[in-house]
Amino acid sequence: MNGTETQIQMQKFLQTFMSRGILNAKEVKNLRQEIGVHAESNDDLIRFVQAANEAIAPFNLEIRKGVQEDDGAHFYCLVNTVETSLTRLSSTYTPNELELFKKLVEKIVDTDDGKMGSLAALSLTDKLDKKMGKEEGQDFFNRLERDKWIKKDTDGKISLSVRSILELEQYLKDMYPEFIKLCNICSKICLLGETCANCGIKLHLKCANNLFSKQGSEKKCPARDCSATWGSIE
Ligand SMILES: [Zn+2]
Ligand SMILES: [Zn+2]
Repeated sequence: MNGTETQIQMQKFLQTFMSRGILNAKEVKNLRQEIGVHAESNDDLIRFVQAANEAIAPFNLEIRKGVQEDDGAHFYCLVNTVETSLTRLSSTYTPNELELFKKLVEKIVDTDDGKMGSLAALSLTDKLDKKMGKEEGQDFFNRLERDKWIKKDTDGKISLSVRSILELEQYLKDMYPEFIKLCNICSKICLLGETCANCGIKLHLKCANNLFSKQGSEKKCPARDCSATWGSIE
């Protein structure tokens, strides 16, 4: 493979990330085949992503890998490494829409389980300075879901998707330091998860299940100085 060929492949790879923002593991695999990058092993892919990241680092961009909190699915997301505020999304959404997104994020991080009902979310349109109709609000939430910023579960409850957590990580930590907890196992932001009734630490459901499957019948909180029986996990 010569240098130009690699350059063209890299260009196509980055163009796709620029236009889509986020791809799941399968989509990355398909993209690789499409542009003719032969990655036999996971290491090959990691090396290719590293090379892509070196190319885009001067533009303060980075492709980051993340895990969807509820199902553990792997994603690759193009994130801005410098600009942390929501205003960087202003090329995609209007100021009023971003205000609504901000209110939604604020409510979701303030819940215990990281989820919010669709109707309650829609009623946030009433709290905007500049009025927005319910239909317009619903349309905006649909776009957020389509663009993978939020996720709806089977009960219609809204949570922040892996894209929000990867791209808004610093924003969330800066804005809501008192609400944002890190998972005691993987040390990543944990919104969707279980909380220890005794000490208040949080665990992702998947991280908790991994831990408790090793512990056997008696599930204990992994926090040092706690070790309380974990009640809420089946
Ligand atoms: Zn975790
Ligand atoms: Zn505990």
